[in-house]
Parts: sequence; structure tokens; C-alpha cells
Amino acid sequence: MDEPIYPYVGASVTWPRSGDAAWRQADHPFHVYHMELCLAEAAAAAAEDEVPVGAVIIHPERGVIASAHNQRERLQDPTAHAEMIALTQAANALKSWRLEQCILYVTLEPCVMCAGAAVNARLGMIVYGADDPKAGACRSLYQIPDDKRLPHRLAVVGGVLAEQCAAVLSEFFRERRRWGRK
Ligand SMILES: [Zn+2]
Repeated sequence: MDEPIYPYVGASVTWPRSGDAAWRQADHPFHVYHMELCLAEAAAAAAEDEVPVGAVIIHPERGVIASAHNQRERLQDPTAHAEMIALTQAANALKSWRLEQCILYVTLEPCVMCAGAAVNARLGMIVYGADDPKAGACRSLYQIPDDKRLPHRLAVVGGVLAEQCAAVLSEFFRERRRWGRK
């Protein structure tokens, strides 16, 4: 492989399933950097009156290969979660449904559908921001990425910029209620 074209140069990176304990920490600068990109996507969703959830997928040599936000309202599609759109973008970018080396970053803990899609994509790792006690399928309600009955397991890191990620959502719903929508 030639010189990596990965744009992030700030932190030393151990990729991706190393035993490096720092890599599993929510305050690792590599994770924080990519969660900030997700927050920008979430802001774009809010501006479109979509529930603000943003996701990016990165590949070790190619960097960010997918960047998406929730588009359920615009597309009137129950599968149009940020993660699902990003997984399709990433598969298109790699011309492969296998995303083994890739990491999915997302502002909110993935639901059953998205965690299941990550398993099906053979994804390397999920890194998310805020826990979702109502629908989270990585830690909160289900632990899909760790389920030994499934054919693939992947690492999960939660809580990256959790307060900012949760604040974007709570602000969105507060504004909605103010305008009498729900
Ligand atoms: Zn989902």
C-alpha cells in the first residue's frame, strides 16, 4: 500500500482492532475528530427538519468514504437512518458489501436495524455518541454487535462527545414542541 491518504494527522492511530486500551476510550482524539464530522451532519439534518442524527464511515487508507444524515422524512423511508445511508455509500465507494476494516461513527447509539446492517457488512467497529435508552441496540436494549449467535462480532465504543450529541437531539425536540409539532 502506498502512503495513506488519510487526512487526519493529529493522533497516533492504532488500527483498528488492536489491544491498545486508549483506542477503546471515548476521548481518543481520533474518535472525537470523527464524531465532530458526525455532529456537522446532524446539524444538516436539523436544518432539514429531520431528527438530527449524523454518521460517517472511514476506511484506513481512504479516510472518510461516507457521510450522511437521517433522511426519513424527506425520503419517507423507514430505513433512511444516517447509518443505513452511510453503509450504502461506503459499499459503493469500495465496490464491496464487505466493510471489514471500516469504522462507523454515529451521533446516536444505533438501532436494531442499523446494528444489524453493521453486522451484515462485517464492519470493523462502531463508535457512537449518545446512548439511546429507547431504541439502542449496541448497549442499551440489545447488544447486537456482541451477540455470539450472529456470524460476526464487532467492537463498540460509546459515549464519544455524548453530551453534544444528546444536546443536538434534545434541542431539536424542544424546538419542535415549541412550534406545536411532534
Ligand atoms: Zn437505525
